Amino acid sequence: MKIEIENKEQLWTHISAQLQDVFGDHAYRGWLRFLKFEEDAGAKVILSVPTAFIRDLIKSKYLEGITDLWGQANEEVKVVDIIVVEKNEEARQDNFENAPKASSKLSLDTLSGNTDGLDPRFNFDNFVVGKPNELAYAAALRVAESDTVNFNPLFLYGGVGLGKTHLMHSIAWHLHNMHPKRKVIYLSAEQFMDYYIRSLRHKTMIDFRDMFRNVDVLMVDDIQFMSGKNSTQEEFFHTFNALIDQKKQIILSADQSPSDLTGIEERMRSRFGWGLVVDIHPTTYELRLGILQAKAENLDVKIPQDVIEFLAHKITSNVRELEGALNKIRARSMLIGGPITLEGTREALKDLLRANERLLTVDEIQRQVAEHFNIRISDMKSSKRLRAVARPRQVAMYMCKNFTSKSWAAIGEEFGGRDHSTVMHACKKVTELKGTDPDLNEDIHILERILSA
Ligand code: ADP
Ligand code: MG
Repeated sequence: MKIEIENKEQLWTHISAQLQDVFGDHAYRGWLRFLKFEEDAGAKVILSVPTAFIRDLIKSKYLEGITDLWGQANEEVKVVDIIVVEKNEEARQDNFENAPKASSKLSLDTLSGNTDGLDPRFNFDNFVVGKPNELAYAAALRVAESDTVNFNPLFLYGGVGLGKTHLMHSIAWHLHNMHPKRKVIYLSAEQFMDYYIRSLRHKTMIDFRDMFRNVDVLMVDDIQFMSGKNSTQEEFFHTFNALIDQKKQIILSADQSPSDLTGIEERMRSRFGWGLVVDIHPTTYELRLGILQAKAENLDVKIPQDVIEFLAHKITSNVRELEGALNKIRARSMLIGGPITLEGTREALKDLLRANERLLTVDEIQRQVAEHFNIRISDMKSSKRLRAVARPRQVAMYMCKNFTSKSWAAIGEEFGGRDHSTVMHACKKVTELKGTDPDLNEDIHILERILSA
C-alpha cells in the first residue's frame, strides 16, 4: 500500500509524530523535537534546527534513521538535509537551559544527583545477559551494590554498540535510587574535556577541581576520546589519582583495553589496569535472539518469531543496529499499516542488510574457517573427501548460509562448483552435529564469534 499524501510538509507532521517512538525519549527531548520542516526540493527535503550544535548532533546520530523514515513514507525522498535557522530563538533558549554544555558556572548540583543525562531505558533490568557480556554485567552490578570499593577503577571495554554505556547508566540509576545522597557523576570523556576547557576559559578551575574531586563515584564514558588531548589527560590524571587516594569508585569505559589505547599516556594506561578490566565480547546468535525477544515484548506491535530469528541471523554487527532494525520495521508497519512480515522486513531493511553483508564475503568465511581448522584455503574448493577437510568445508558452507544472503547454489559454486544439494546437506549435517558433538559445537561458537566481530 502506498501513502497518498503528496505534500511533504503534511508528511512531516506524520513522520515527526513518530520521532519520539522511534528514537526514544532521550533523543527526542534533547534534540529531535527542535526539527522543523523548511523546504521540499524534490528528492531532497530540508529540515531546520536552531543551533549548529543540535544540527551536528542530529546529523551524526539520527540523520540516517530520519532519512529512512522519509524514504519509507515517500519513495521520492532520497536525501534529507538539516540547516540552522537561528530565528527559532525560543527553542534555542529552551535547549540551552537543559544542556550542561552551555553552563559556564560549574557546580556539583549541575552534574551529580542529576539524572538528566541518564537514559531511563538503560537499567539493569533491561540488560539482557549472555556469555559475551556476563562478566561485565556481574562487575557492574557488584560495583553498584557494594558499599565498599573492591576494585578501582572498573574498566569496561568493547566494540561500539555492545552495552558499555547501558551498564554505566545502570550503575548510576541504581546508586541514584538506593543512595540518593551519594555524589555520582556520569559523563563522557568529551564532556569532561568540554568542562575542563570551559573552566580554563572562565577561570573557574577551582570549582572544576572541587567538583570532580569531591564525588563518591566518577564514571567517564569513552575514555579513548582523550587520545592525543594532552592537557585534558593531565587534568584527568590528577582527578583520577585524587579519587583513588580517597578510595572513591571510578568507572571507565573505552573501545579498547587499557594497554591498546593509543594516544593515551603510558602512566595513565597502566593505572587504568590497576583495578578490574573486563571486556564485552561481540554478540552471539543466542544473545541477539534474547535481546530481540526482550525488546520485542516491550513494543506495541507484534514481531513474529521468524522475523526475530531472521534479524538475529542477519544483523550481527552490534546491539544498536539490532535496535535500529526493530525500530525501522516497526515504523514501516505503522506507516503502511498491516502486520509485520518477513517479506516486509527484508524490504524495510534492504540497505542495512546489504551493509551487514558487505562485511563478509564467502572468501573471508572460507579463510577464517580454514585458519581455524588449520587446513588450506584451497581445500575449501578441492574435491578431497577426507574427513579432516570435508568437515571444515561443511562448516564453512554452513557459515556462508548464515552470514551471507547467498543461495545454496551460489554458495556451492564458490566451493569448487559443488551442487546446491551438497550445500543443503552440509548445513543439515552441521546443525545435527551441533547437538551431538560438543567439540564441533564449540568450534562453531568460536567461529561465529570471530565472524560477527
Ligand atoms: P556502547 O556504549 O558499548 O557503544 P550502548 O550501551 O550505547 O553501547 O548500547 C547500544 C544500544 O544497545 C543501547 O540502546 C543499549 O540499550 C542496547 N544494548 C546493548 N547491550 C544490551 C543488552 N545486553 N541488553 C539490552 N540492550 C542492550
Ligand atoms: Mg557508549
